[in-house]
Amino acid sequence: MLDRVVGQGRARAVLEASLAAPVHAYLFVGPTGSGKREAARAFAAALVCPDGGCGSCASCHDVLAGRHPDVVVVERQGASISVDEARQVTSLAQRSPRHGGRQVVILADFHLVDEAAPALLKTIEEPPASTVFVILADALPPGLVTIASRCLRVEFRGLDEETLAALLVAEGSDPAAAATAAAAAGGRIDRARLLANDPGFAARQERWRTVPERLDGTGMTVAVLTEELLGSADELVVVVKARQEAELKDLAAAAERAGDRGVPGRQAIEDRHRREQRRVRTDELRAGLGTLVSAYRSQLRGSEPARETAALLACCGAIDTAAELLERNPNETLLLQSLLLALDAARR
Ligand SMILES: [Zn+2]
Repeated sequence: MLDRVVGQGRARAVLEASLAAPVHAYLFVGPTGSGKREAARAFAAALVCPDGGCGSCASCHDVLAGRHPDVVVVERQGASISVDEARQVTSLAQRSPRHGGRQVVILADFHLVDEAAPALLKTIEEPPASTVFVILADALPPGLVTIASRCLRVEFRGLDEETLAALLVAEGSDPAAAATAAAAAGGRIDRARLLANDPGFAARQERWRTVPERLDGTGMTVAVLTEELLGSADELVVVVKARQEAELKDLAAAAERAGDRGVPGRQAIEDRHRREQRRVRTDELRAGLGTLVSAYRSQLRGSEPARETAALLACCGAIDTAAELLERNPNETLLLQSLLLALDAARR
């Protein structure tokens, strides 16, 4: 099962060594897209599989498909983990495993634990012997330090381009497509996979790359380009939505087979899907701005007069500022329009 922990040699070694005698709580720390969630699932599968993670039994399949009763992923509903959710985790931890001798509780987005942390400390410190916690966090904020000290910490790193590309090729991507997707993935495995399987990727990059030559000093063109670039990000969200719908359909079919009335935790899954759509969109815009800044930088190499160089540098600076603003939930249309106007003005 731990073969699925890719590009994270040290994390994998720690988990492998730990399988024979697992501790009560693990903390996976590393940036978004470093594969923590996938690793947590693989590790959980290994912990509940009667064969230590064979990868082929019904238990392993059920964990990977997200429908094993003894592997629970707890997702936050709001912007951070609430005290109520923390209480639910505590009662979940007390529950006896339905199948074997062990249950695994995976706590997602735990860097957002805020004021709920104290409510969870005791539970995470001393869960019943049959419960193992796997806590996922993008970073280690002060509120999480005490809990972190009660866990075995497993570090995940952002993946470099080479590792990502090799991974995509191993998963069946064509090497050229893998290299381009890896370069645009910002170290994130989820985004690399998304781009490698996305036929519209090259065309979208081209739209961003050609912005400098298409700006013509008119507000009309700025408006048209803004709409086109934002529409471009929407195209990728459509791809993601289709995958999410397929996931929900699978879960619904499994719930029906199990005689459940609906998909357990459906609300939390849908919330996670919405967050994912939002993130994919922001990532796509940020990557587009990255393509745009490279377009100006490549002109910088051939630029001669000091005035032209200064203008190009101003453009690069404006794009970097826009990329920073993107993190703060801006009005995207306004942000892009004012950027394009500034880029246009700088060159005239
Ligand atoms: Zn198995």
